[in-house]
Amino acid sequence: MTDPMTEPSLQNRVAVVTGGSSGIGRATACLLARHGARVFVGDYDPDETARDEFERLGVTQVRADVRVEHDVRALIDEAASAGGGLDILVNNAGVGLVKQITDVSEDEWDRVLDTNLKGAFLCSKHAIRHMRERGGGSIVNTASNAGLLPRAHDPVYSISKGALVAMTKSLALCHAVDRIRVNAVCPGPVEATRMMEADLAVADDREAAARSIIEASPLARALGRFIRPDEVAAAVLYLVSDAAAMVTGTCIGIDGGKSLGVPPR
Ligand code: NAD
Repeated sequence: MTDPMTEPSLQNRVAVVTGGSSGIGRATACLLARHGARVFVGDYDPDETARDEFERLGVTQVRADVRVEHDVRALIDEAASAGGGLDILVNNAGVGLVKQITDVSEDEWDRVLDTNLKGAFLCSKHAIRHMRERGGGSIVNTASNAGLLPRAHDPVYSISKGALVAMTKSLALCHAVDRIRVNAVCPGPVEATRMMEADLAVADDREAAARSIIEASPLARALGRFIRPDEVAAAVLYLVSDAAAMVTGTCIGIDGGKSLGVPPR
């Protein structure tokens, strides 16, 4: 017999992971599948390089844009009907925007807020219907250290993630009665993600940019490295497992202490 507190089993659980074709979402989808879940990945830009690994683990990749309610409903309903219900939703799809508010266009504001916040609202709305039928469920939102402590270089992203943290707590409060838990992970700088690669790609000096990103997170600085996608996925696994049966409304920083305050000089 395995111990559910230390060896989480997700046998017979059905999970949807949005933005699961790359980075943190892909690591999460694969980890949940390795622990027995039937996983459906929803992404508007499916990554062909994930195909072999997903096939091996029985992960289904569905093209879906989380900003579009029709896509979201189709993704959630497909997962619930193929899997016989829905237990887990990981709202992970997200986009960044490094720009001052005075330079942000209405379209850019909509793109960030619609992806990072409205997408999580739409997915939660449709997932909760199925979770209620199942008698419970677990939702994990991928927020950010920017949702815990706003940053000066990307205000619109910080606003979107701050609101996602607020949504996490609000829905946790509303849906405990349905035995649906709602939590968030708040990563710091994570390597091997399209988002981080895009930031580094525009830097004049890639090495210097990477160093300065690492230095802004006290533990990343002490360890001399970025956070890995599987380190965020491990926290998601805990949050969706039975070991976290009494955990709801928490926002776990996996940011090497970046959101704690101003680090020593
Ligand atoms: P990533 O770019 O590799 O992954 C994001 C995924 O979301 C991509 O596969 C992308 O195609 C998908 N996506 C974007 N918009 C979508 C939409 N409208 N509909 C469906 N899919 C969509 O980057 P990542 O770092 O793995 O990002 C995952 C989450 O982690 C995001 O919410 C991001 O804000 C958050 N995050 C990342 C970092 C980091 O350093 N990389 C830090 C903190 C938080």
